Amino acid sequence: MSVPYEFDIAIIGGGITGLSAAYHLQKLGFSRLCLFSKAPDHSATAQSTGFLSGGMADNFTRLSHPRGVSTAKEIWSFCDLAYDNLLEYLQNKGIPYQKGERLRWMISEAETLEAHTAVQQMSGAGMAGAWEAANPSQPGLSSTRWLGTQKDGSRAAAVSVPLLLQQLRADSRVTGFGEAQSFQSSGDALEVTHAGGKVRCEFIVCAQHLSIGDLLPNLAESLVPYADQWSECQLQNRDRTLPWPPGTVFSWQHSHIWGVITGPNTVRIGGGRYLRAMAGIEAKVASYEQKITRHLADAWNGLWPDLLVEPTGPGFGIRDCRPCDELPLIGPMFGEGRILVATGYMGQGLSLGFMAGRCLAELIAGQPTKLPRLLWPERLRSLPREKGEES
Ligand SMILES: Cc1cc2nc3c(=O)[nH]c(=O)nc-3n(C[C@H](O)[C@H](O)[C@H](O)COP(=O)(O)OP(=O)(O)OC[C@H]3O[C@@H](n4cnc5c(N)ncnc54)[C@H](O)[C@@H]3O)c2cc1C
Repeated sequence: MSVPYEFDIAIIGGGITGLSAAYHLQKLGFSRLCLFSKAPDHSATAQSTGFLSGGMADNFTRLSHPRGVSTAKEIWSFCDLAYDNLLEYLQNKGIPYQKGERLRWMISEAETLEAHTAVQQMSGAGMAGAWEAANPSQPGLSSTRWLGTQKDGSRAAAVSVPLLLQQLRADSRVTGFGEAQSFQSSGDALEVTHAGGKVRCEFIVCAQHLSIGDLLPNLAESLVPYADQWSECQLQNRDRTLPWPPGTVFSWQHSHIWGVITGPNTVRIGGGRYLRAMAGIEAKVASYEQKITRHLADAWNGLWPDLLVEPTGPGFGIRDCRPCDELPLIGPMFGEGRILVATGYMGQGLSLGFMAGRCLAELIAGQPTKLPRLLWPERLRSLPREKGEES
């Protein structure tokens, strides 16, 4: 006789993905859940900037060029849905947020050409995408570098991450354990080993970000780490206000510099990943570099000389995960459908991590899901499927 499971589902990782999985699994009727988390917790979620955005951080053409417009549309629309889904949660729970627009500022002819292609493809596919030529006579915007703005619609917002996490933790009533050390199959069950012993369960949700590769070596080389950082800045002239509303999410230089407007004269500016030796690869923790903060503020000041900013702190360096094929990784693990993984949101983990938690819960419950099959880990397997495996 097999030993009964102690838990239906074990979730590894208490960032946005793991907490969202716990929340959505409970909504679907699962009550025997446990969550493994690590101390001290350096979760990417807790240190993130607090912007929410539809689509992807990289431009539409980065998807459409290698994969074609219709696949790009499928993935982009899933990201839009992820944004809508999180906004609905914020509204239902009364968590405040500020709404703006998604803007890409162009400062080179090459990127402007790319922007025109993106806008054409996106509007042709029925999605938000518009081009606005630079208008330096607009008060406060007398930039000599700005060539125009690609406007990707109004799916853009700023939220307080501590408030979001506080609410999600309150909504996820789970048994808590420390760090998960390993897992294996044991008869009908899966077994997770931790410092205090073993836990038997039917499914495992791997939501431990870059550490997924430690427990699932088949994915280790596909999850490429990189490090980026952000910091709070303020207009030097406190009597001025920024011409974009709080909640506006912006980027320039192919999204290498990015950020969000957080108040009438405050902005969080992020970026710098290519300024770091090896872009954070091999580092276990991303350091915060004052020099990069200065560089990012100077880059802003060069673009918007009427709106000079000064870093005021705080600032964070974060290690994030970029799958080798630059698509999020969400779904059942190949060869073991009872283990589900979610990571690789490439800078948009608040909305995509929340959505991933929902989609994994739906898959476990056997419910319909909006998750595109293209995002499943199976795309990274190098071995053919075994006989009888689902195609
Ligand atoms: C500089 C920067 C700023 C960013 N800002 C934003 C932003 O404003 N908006 C946005 O949408 N995205 C942003 N991102 C991306 C976003 O932060 C991440 O994509 C997202 O937080 C990942 O969430 P997660 O739950 O998958 O991982 P995490 O939040 O890292 O959570 C994983 C958890 O698993 C734990 N863990 C690891 N191993 C184990 C183990 N063996 N056992 C138990 N627990 C374990 C970790 O301690 C951690 O708590 C930013 C990224 C960077 C680099």
